[in-house]
Amino acid sequence: TDLRRLELVRREFVANVSHELRTPLASIRALADTLEAGAIDDPEVSGDFLNRIVYEVDRLNGLVEELLDLGRLESGRLVLDYHRTAPASLLGTAVGRLQEQIDAAGLTLEIEADPKLSPAMLDTTRIEQVLINLIQNAIDALKGRPGARIEIAALERDGRVNIHVADNGCGIPAENLPRVFDPFFTTKDVGEGMGMGLSVCYRMMQQMRGGIDVESQPGAGTTFTLWFPSFTPSLES
Ligand code: ADP
Repeated sequence: TDLRRLELVRREFVANVSHELRTPLASIRALADTLEAGAIDDPEVSGDFLNRIVYEVDRLNGLVEELLDLGRLESGRLVLDYHRTAPASLLGTAVGRLQEQIDAAGLTLEIEADPKLSPAMLDTTRIEQVLINLIQNAIDALKGRPGARIEIAALERDGRVNIHVADNGCGIPAENLPRVFDPFFTTKDVGEGMGMGLSVCYRMMQQMRGGIDVESQPGAGTTFTLWFPSFTPSLES
């Protein structure tokens, strides 16, 4: 029965990937066909269609990158590039990348980082990728609610650094909580992604000897907490 279950998971995964590939590919085909049929001569329409093709190609690229990351993480082939990193500096970089979106959506963002946080051995680029993912999800959960808040806090407890990303958005129903880290789990009310983001984040944090947890109250908001061990000399090599 274990083998059967694995086979089912594998089949579902392949079906999900195929489904996610089919929609953007069909759009690109339809847009190209319409251009070819004459729309290419109308500069306004052709500009818009080209932008939509680029958007769909970017989505496909994103999906392929996430699938590659997931594959490498699951087979232990993802090589991380560890550096001694000050946790507070991660927050600034991640928020900086999304500041424009936060302002455009009229959201308030607060960062609170304990100045005495220990440095940690981390793959800086990868952990920024995880943080950006969590903040992007918070922005998506708050779209259409100007004045809503995102709070990011970094604290150290018992040899662990915890980074909380909290929003006061729609929240996640209890029955969906165990599924948010599954590949392809997504709901239409939060963002336009394909549901791969959190599954990659989850495995990425495991690989960095840390983890990621979620707490949520439907209607009140969601807090994701990523954590990793604070710096220990034995990890320095
Ligand atoms: P994607 O890569 O498509 O953004 P994720 O794996 O990041 O997908 O998120 C999966 C799902 O988890 C979302 O579609 C949404 O249902 C739920 N989710 C994630 N973050 C939040 C949040 N901050 N508030 C409410 N729901 C969330």
